Amino acid sequence: MNKSPDGQRMEKIVSLCKRRGFIFQSSEIYGGLNGLWDYGPLGVELKRNLKNYWWRVMVHERDDVVGMDGSILTHPAVLTASGHVEGFSDLLVDCRTCKSRMRADQLVRKNGIKQCPRCGGNDITEPRAFNLMLETHIGSIDPRSGLTYEMPAADLTTSTIQPGIPPTTSDSQLVDIKRPAGEVVALVYLRPETAQSIFVQFKNILEVSRKKLPFGIAQIGKAFRNEINPRNFIFRSREFEQMELEYFCRAEDGMKLLEYWKEERLKFYENIGIAREKLHVLIVPDEERAFYSKGTYDIEYDFPFGRQELEGVAYRTDYDLSQHQKGSSKPLEYFDEETKQKFIPHVVEPSAGVDRTVLALICEAYSEDQAPNEKGKMETRVVLRFHPRVAPIKCAVFPLLKNKEKLVAKAREIADLLRPHMFVFYDESGAIGRRYRRQDEIGTPFGVTVDFETLGEKDVALRDTVTLRERDSMKQERVAIRDLVTTLTSRIR
Ligand code: ATP
Repeated sequence: MNKSPDGQRMEKIVSLCKRRGFIFQSSEIYGGLNGLWDYGPLGVELKRNLKNYWWRVMVHERDDVVGMDGSILTHPAVLTASGHVEGFSDLLVDCRTCKSRMRADQLVRKNGIKQCPRCGGNDITEPRAFNLMLETHIGSIDPRSGLTYEMPAADLTTSTIQPGIPPTTSDSQLVDIKRPAGEVVALVYLRPETAQSIFVQFKNILEVSRKKLPFGIAQIGKAFRNEINPRNFIFRSREFEQMELEYFCRAEDGMKLLEYWKEERLKFYENIGIAREKLHVLIVPDEERAFYSKGTYDIEYDFPFGRQELEGVAYRTDYDLSQHQKGSSKPLEYFDEETKQKFIPHVVEPSAGVDRTVLALICEAYSEDQAPNEKGKMETRVVLRFHPRVAPIKCAVFPLLKNKEKLVAKAREIADLLRPHMFVFYDESGAIGRRYRRQDEIGTPFGVTVDFETLGEKDVALRDTVTLRERDSMKQERVAIRDLVTTLTSRIR
């Protein structure tokens, strides 16, 4: 089958990601697991740089946001109160012709009739709700073999109290469910979003941070959804990371802050190198918005496979805190010292996907141009034009020749000089042109070459200077070694 140019582009990107160690399929040597991915040496750097920049902009550079890191395993009562146990589902259908299973909204319409997007058949089952939450169990019970040992009842009902540590809910207070084989296990969920732990810790964080409204709590962490059709590489997976901010405010400021955060988030994407014209703001229509939301924007990006959501910015009113106040019977109000009033704050939530943004960064960066090889012949060069801020490796350091001891020693010295400030890669193997290409292909923005000038062998005025090459323009400049750290750090921040 002939692939469209966008399809081909996506194929090249996926293959580059594997070949150069950005992303691998999870459990690959055992045949892989659908919708699960592992990040390799370069992928983990890219992802970490993205998360660090988000944290810097959303937490460190602000006075009104603090961070937290919540547990992944979640008490079922939390997700019952939030509405996830009841309603976090997608509508699922099966095609009776080709037996494929998909989300109901993936069916295509032809002449007003819904069809299977794979085989074009129209013998489709009625849509049924499919809860996306993944569950597991805790406690000394093995659901495969029943009770692992006879446990005295007291062990299950009394929590262990240690000095200074508040008593916690015992396992038996969790919802016990019966497995088909008859064993009873304490059910917990793998969180489907990071947001709920922020709401649940709202009171504790308010007390310790002593923040006044408006203020936010930020979190980056894993979330899990049993997606019906994981697809488009890491775009829709079953395990992914989110970067979420819950920004608490007074009701009268909600709509204004929704606009504010939409704009801030658009700036963020531009600041990591995503072109503004590839970003789009979708106003989520009333009928598609959660019933409690007074306004939601989706920030979308033009991926090679179409325009898709990167982030949702939603004004969620006071729904979540009210639900948890009801569910836990613990007061979650804010006390306004000026007006002496108690009320439940409203919240605006910018919620971004780490993996989707990583994919957008790679898609945006991928390019091919023409550059001369060592023999001066033009050939296609693959370049990842990452913004230096997110690039996995910031600077590569090369001795011009591998077999000249003095060049190698100087280059290693420079790599050590830079290492405390940035992630550096030292490479001495192969022709220098080929070494540049290898770095272009993984998006390293700068290359430093130590040559005979550096040693002062040709011109003493050039002693202790190096060639600094810029990835995109391939321009080279001469920089003194003593200025390298400041020159580079000012360009990668
Ligand atoms: P979609 O409609 O694409 O399923 P959503 O509207 O359900 O996404 P939210 O619940 O708003 O997504 O989650 C916030 C962000 O988390 C999304 O904008 C996305 O970046 C990320 N995200 C959600 N589901 C996934 C997933 N299965 N894989 C990767 N990232 C995801």
